[in-house]
Amino acid sequence: MNTSFWERESFLLNCDVIIIGAGIVGLSAAYHWKKKNPGHRVVILERNWLSDGASSKNAGFACFGSISELEDDLQSMSENEVVSLTNRRFQGLLELRKLIGNENLEFQSCGGVEVFFDSSSFQKCQSQIDKWNLNFNTIIGPNVYSAKSVSYYHGMQEVVGVIENSFEGAIHTGSMLRSFRNLVLSLGVELYSGVHVLSFEEVNSGVEVVSNEGQWKTENLIITTNAFACELLPILDVQPKRNQVIVSKPMRHELKATYHAEKGYIYFRPIQDRILIGGMRHLFPHTENTSER
Ligand SMILES: Cc1cc2nc3c(=O)[nH]c(=O)nc-3n(C[C@H](O)[C@H](O)[C@H](O)COP(=O)(O)OP(=O)(O)OC[C@H]3O[C@@H](n4cnc5c(N)ncnc54)[C@H](O)[C@@H]3O)c2cc1C
Repeated sequence: MNTSFWERESFLLNCDVIIIGAGIVGLSAAYHWKKKNPGHRVVILERNWLSDGASSKNAGFACFGSISELEDDLQSMSENEVVSLTNRRFQGLLELRKLIGNENLEFQSCGGVEVFFDSSSFQKCQSQIDKWNLNFNTIIGPNVYSAKSVSYYHGMQEVVGVIENSFEGAIHTGSMLRSFRNLVLSLGVELYSGVHVLSFEEVNSGVEVVSNEGQWKTENLIITTNAFACELLPILDVQPKRNQVIVSKPMRHELKATYHAEKGYIYFRPIQDRILIGGMRHLFPHTENTSER
């Protein structure tokens, strides 16, 4: 059906900013833009009825880095860069908790635990604890990491050692996203679902945005489409990667924290009487990089 004159005037045209993607980054961009410019028309266009990316499907770990993950990062970054990145992750979590509130996030301060199944990688990581604790002492807190040699831990029998992190925790991903959406809507941000942006073009007086639901016009455009970024900006070198989260049937378990293994590529946590297991993006990195659902 054609778009009417009224629909064009009131919805598609005269936007101060359009944000593409209603994930956590799009919502965050909308929140901060509206807070700084209360009189602006801030519009989010999302192709799915909800968010269709990682923000509503992730594992809900409020984490910032296990020792083996940080050590692995040193292969591609300097120590200062790893510290700065980790600090930004930690500050981001604090910011999210301040913005949405611990209750709305269903935040649990349950701690994070890296589990080791072979002694040599445990000893290697254990020997690096002092270095990382010193790095994070003033920006995160005292003694972030501490190690224990164990043969039985929270119901796990084949573990040889663990490194605990008392500053990590867990959230309820669904509650986070619902509360965040409600927060930005309460400020007067407009969120349109089912609008798939196909292309955009910069024109003299702003940007024209072509979608399956008509042509929009805006002064400013923000693209927060994460793994799908290359579809709109082919110039970017962004590769989607396989990642998954599965949740068990109800079962008996003794898990009580959030857990990482294998340089952070595999993780698990309890959810009520179930266990969530996630990650695996290090498997098949060259074959599983499609952005098709
Ligand atoms: C399986 C999995 C588990 C994870 N677990 C954790 C965890 O435990 N802790 C943690 O901190 N992080 C975790 N992450 C990472 C975290 O979820 C992401 O970094 C974060 O959600 C990214 O948010 P985003 O807004 O950038 O992207 P997304 O949430 O992916 O949002 C992008 C949005 O853009 C929309 N979009 C795309 N193209 C278009 C278009 N052309 N037009 C309109 N809309 C479009 C999509 O539908 C989507 O809603 C996990 C990620 C995955 C995949």
